[in-house]
Amino acid sequence: MYWTVGKVKITKIVELETVGSTRFILPLASNEEIRKLPWLIPHFATEEGRLKISIHALVVETPTRRIVVDTGLGNDKEGRNAPTWNHRQGPFLETMRAAGFAPESIDTVLCTHLHVDHVGWNTKLVEGRWVPTFANARYVFGKTEYEYWRDCTDEPDKVAVFNDSVRPVVDAGKVELIGSEDRICDEISLIPTPGHSPGHMSVHIQSGGEEALLTGDVAHHPCQMAHLQWSSTADSDPVQSILTRRELFARFADTPTLVIGGHFNGGHIQRDGNAFKFAV
Ligand SMILES: [Zn+2]
Repeated sequence: MYWTVGKVKITKIVELETVGSTRFILPLASNEEIRKLPWLIPHFATEEGRLKISIHALVVETPTRRIVVDTGLGNDKEGRNAPTWNHRQGPFLETMRAAGFAPESIDTVLCTHLHVDHVGWNTKLVEGRWVPTFANARYVFGKTEYEYWRDCTDEPDKVAVFNDSVRPVVDAGKVELIGSEDRICDEISLIPTPGHSPGHMSVHIQSGGEEALLTGDVAHHPCQMAHLQWSSTADSDPVQSILTRRELFARFADTPTLVIGGHFNGGHIQRDGNAFKFAV
């Protein structure tokens, strides 16, 4: 699946798709509450009110760059809290190649934040060592985000993620730390969107008079546009994440901006009373 924004093309590479196994991440999004939001159905939820969610990477091609935004779960990883995220043997790299994106052709990897499902394919296991998957890429991490996970956590699963999917890329000399309002190239700049994680960033694309916003995990699902207060169990600062959702959605609501989530497909944000809804 792909979208175009002026001269920029955005292609979604799916690693995993699920329906209905989202209660652990959005506990307030019951089937009954979701059925009260008919605009979610069928694109973002089933008739029964079960949420559709994917884990995916977005390849962003500009006239001069080939960028991967977020890198999923990865294969062969260990120490994850979700059992099915350990020792994965998925065909993600083959899927990328089949879509025309050989890993060696990627020149930039950009992580909106450094959570388990956004950094996994930063590395792959080769002869017992974690090496950068995208051998010719500069990896771009937010400085605030990187320093937080390096210095401020001793949760075993978070440490495992850092040690197998972040640190090896740093040790290989491939990482550039940036400010969360920096510009990546002519068409792409960043918007600081803290709350889900301390240094979370969203990606703003502008080309030929058109715009797109890659939200990352500001929301895990469009139901959080209607219920801004439905923070995710993974949000590090649930109060800040509500403020960030309100501010970011207000900025882009009722504009032609294409909005694509870290876990949901593209659409457009519209004002709906005191909150928002999402239209395909
Ligand atoms: Zn995520």
